[in-house]
Amino acid sequence: MNIVLLGAPGAGKGTQAKLIEEHYGLTHIATGDIFRANIKGGTPIGKLAKSYIDKGALVPDEVTCELVKDRLTNGEVGAGFMLDGFPRNLFQAGELDKFARVDLCINIDVDKCLLMDRICGRRVCSCGASYHVSTLNGATTCAKCGQPLYQRDDDNPATVEARLDTYASQTAPLAHYYEAQGKLFTVDGGSGTPEQVFAVIKQELDKYIK
Ligand code: ADP
Ligand code: ZN
Repeated sequence: MNIVLLGAPGAGKGTQAKLIEEHYGLTHIATGDIFRANIKGGTPIGKLAKSYIDKGALVPDEVTCELVKDRLTNGEVGAGFMLDGFPRNLFQAGELDKFARVDLCINIDVDKCLLMDRICGRRVCSCGASYHVSTLNGATTCAKCGQPLYQRDDDNPATVEARLDTYASQTAPLAHYYEAQGKLFTVDGGSGTPEQVFAVIKQELDKYIK
């Protein structure tokens, strides 16, 4: 079972990916995480990616597609993969169809006015957990693993504005791409807790995975 997670920045892709991974054993592959690891490690890919990420733009397709192709072709994918942050435009979706099979696209739909607050108030942990300042009660460490929480460099208002624009113009059309293939499942990600959103996704995934 191979899944593409679609949704604007702040829609909750990473949070749902973690829940899906724990429940179904699918391997979570997030291009944003891969780029951030490369930036941290000072690699050539990291240096190139940073200039685009800081602007809220997309990293060039050649780089991103090659990275994902290599990961899917040469890396472990357990019971299947779950792509988070890829594909991000129609070109990438077409390339993905050349080197892997996609069974389902889960589109997490959240109203734009909620996203800015969610992202600017987001605090993350290197274990993958993600929190919002409004529910942290001043805590500065991860409730799951105890490591310090931090704010992503690109989670600032100016960059978020650009990321939301990039999403609307380049990534949102992918919903139609997968709908035309009969693979689209859209879930409301804006009006329930992460667990409630996951319950809806689970109902759908249980049809595919026993
Ligand atoms: P978010 O979905 O919250 O914006 P991500 O962690 O998925 O954050 O991505 C962060 C940044 O990494 C993006 O703004 C973009 O610059 C870059 N990036 C991630 N995935 C891709 C991709 N598939 N193609 C091009 N750029 C990407
Ligand atoms: Zn943690």
